[in-house]
Amino acid sequence: MKQSHLSMDSKSKQISVLLSYPFKGPFDYKIPDGLKDNKIKPGTIVTVPLNRREEIGVIWKKHPLPKGLALEKMPDTPFDKLKPIISILDLPPLPDVLLKFIDWVAAYTLSPPGSVLAMALRSVKSPQTTHNSIGWIKINTIPSDFRITEPRKKVLDLLDTKEPCPARTIIDKTGVGQSVIQGLSKAGIIQAVSLPNSTLFFQPDPQFSVPKLSQEQQEASDKLCQCVKDRKFSVTLLQGITGSGKTEVYMEAIARCIEQDQQVLVLLPEIALSTQWTDRFAKRFGVQPALWHSDIGSKRRRLTWQAVAEDNVSVVVGARSALFLPFTNLGLIIIDEEHEASFKQEEGVIYNARDMAIVRAQLSNIPAILVSATPSLETLVNVDNKRYEQVTLSSRHGGATLPIIETLDLRKTPPSRGLFISPPLAKAIQTTLDKEEQAMLFLNRRGYAPLTLCRACGFRLECPNCSAWLVEHRRTHRLVCHHCGYMEAIPKICPHCKVEDSLVPIGPGIERITEEARITFPEARILVMASDTLTSPRMTQEAVQQISDRQVNLIIGTQIVAKGWHFPYLTLVGVVDADLGLDGADLRASERTLQLLHQVGGRAGRAEAAGKVLLQSYMPEHPVMQALVKGDFNAFMHQEAAERQPGFWPPYGRLAAIIVSADTHEEASATAQAIGNCTPHGDGIVVLGPTPAPLALLRNRYRQRLLLRTQRQIAVQPILRQWLSNIKPKKGVKIDIDIDPMSFL
Ligand code: ADP
Ligand code: ZN
Repeated sequence: MKQSHLSMDSKSKQISVLLSYPFKGPFDYKIPDGLKDNKIKPGTIVTVPLNRREEIGVIWKKHPLPKGLALEKMPDTPFDKLKPIISILDLPPLPDVLLKFIDWVAAYTLSPPGSVLAMALRSVKSPQTTHNSIGWIKINTIPSDFRITEPRKKVLDLLDTKEPCPARTIIDKTGVGQSVIQGLSKAGIIQAVSLPNSTLFFQPDPQFSVPKLSQEQQEASDKLCQCVKDRKFSVTLLQGITGSGKTEVYMEAIARCIEQDQQVLVLLPEIALSTQWTDRFAKRFGVQPALWHSDIGSKRRRLTWQAVAEDNVSVVVGARSALFLPFTNLGLIIIDEEHEASFKQEEGVIYNARDMAIVRAQLSNIPAILVSATPSLETLVNVDNKRYEQVTLSSRHGGATLPIIETLDLRKTPPSRGLFISPPLAKAIQTTLDKEEQAMLFLNRRGYAPLTLCRACGFRLECPNCSAWLVEHRRTHRLVCHHCGYMEAIPKICPHCKVEDSLVPIGPGIERITEEARITFPEARILVMASDTLTSPRMTQEAVQQISDRQVNLIIGTQIVAKGWHFPYLTLVGVVDADLGLDGADLRASERTLQLLHQVGGRAGRAEAAGKVLLQSYMPEHPVMQALVKGDFNAFMHQEAAERQPGFWPPYGRLAAIIVSADTHEEASATAQAIGNCTPHGDGIVVLGPTPAPLALLRNRYRQRLLLRTQRQIAVQPILRQWLSNIKPKKGVKIDIDIDPMSFL
């Protein structure tokens, strides 16, 4: 990368630079006077000295934040103690709205702004930034005393005076080494230029393949397109049953935004979904969109980052981290499957990408669209309060009907001993397979069995690092902890009573269901879909292709199969354990179970043949099962609302969790007690805990939790800041704050 080195003189000026480390705020540095003022502005990416190292940072300025959200002040350094900036990097500056957004997220999540900046700079900071996107052009005629060797001639024949040729292409096409190129460059015959990245991303064509929308779809599309045309902040919930054409409809809003020459960001909850999404996008717009997630490779990441900053790419689809890309011309944000818990980042900066996407839309003054068949209660309440608009699709495209949903009462028709598929479910599957249709068995549990127990002494095999059972994975002959990744071979004797061959698996995981299905349906062509067997989006894509091509007819999977797939020949979905997920202390247990089961069920009957969903349950009278059977999502959500409202549970109140972790139980509970001893008081403020977390031990760290609950009009951030300012945890004790927690482990 080109670096302009700055010369110093006495009349220097002072400037704030934010570094991507967890400091409380930016540091001050000097800037040399000789430098043109317009070169350095907020957002400029620079390198500065820090403890004798050279670090990348961003020129910062103070942004006004909403009341209650404040960043901590850094102590002032006397001017003559300041160090000078080292260089300005040859990268596009971060746009102003991204700087504001970073401050906003930091203040809201009570994270150091540098940690949030780190998410925006991750691809900039990776090594080799310098060697990419370099191309070569001819600039001079060849001096008479310059010897034209065969390799040199090859290179010169290839090069042009206008169109730069990427270095990689020169080497690939001519077979010459770097030294030949360098030699020509030293002689002043060719010159390196930065390559525009636009060549990587082709402009989508809004007219490439325009669908014919149904009247209902057209009306929904018109409303969304109007929001794009208005070019101002709005949030619209696009709610519609699975298969109603939500994706089809919001693609039209994307088309309008492209026509307006603005950029679009689409957030998906799961990267596994991205290939099906990008293929669909390509069918509609003729080209692939830019992808953004942790798996795309560092070179592509850098190019994408730069192209986004330079407005050379118009549509980016990605995981939550795409929210921190340096869009300079963003016109629309879409959050697909907005209810998904995976939008919440649970480590590092703990934030909810759905909520922060709305903030980003607001700061950019652009529309946002939330998409779901089963919106979160948070979003529905915002619709009720008229903060969000709503458009609804009520029928499936092309006359496909919604599947019929029935419960199978396991108390009345239990499976045979040691088995998990009840006779009526087995019969329904066999009938489906006989009709040459596809069936799916869903169980949201990886591995063979969730618990291994000693028949002789009752000992349960637990993870040594976590308070969790070890899960047997028969495929890999291992016991695995799903929390920390700990693994061990399956022991022959009980570690406790030493009795031989006494360990037995308890309960099913999908490997066990697969084993049972192979015996019960010997003719079936089975495909297993789980996150540990499908480790890349490509593999997922291949599995999906096998389903579409009908190479398989019985699909067994975990929640990965629930996602927005379109499987036209799938007519039966059997849920092995519909009650799973309803126990536990999670405030959203019912809501989430309903959303998940609705989504799995939605895979069935998406084409001509009608679909059926069978839910195996020990409590078919439970409101979640009833809501599913009756297909009355809204009534269920009203009931949820009525239950949460009186106690000021979200979305009627605010929550923040404080998680204290330490190497010993004593240290964790001492700090948690100290926090508990100075709890805030006041009307509408409640503190629960401290108590040991449900996962009291995680990765060898002992954990305690407290929960702060306030009425909606009371912001939690100032309370937490005040409260925790007096707590000085011992070295090795960590305090994490989770604003709007989704997980209560
Ligand atoms: P959702 O996102 O609501 O689940 P999709 O947009 O995936 O629904 O639509 C379901 C299926 O119906 C997809 O295969 C889609 O291509 C098709 N479809 C929906 N609307 C139309 C339309 N107007 N014209 C052609 N195909 C459509
Ligand atoms: Zn563990």
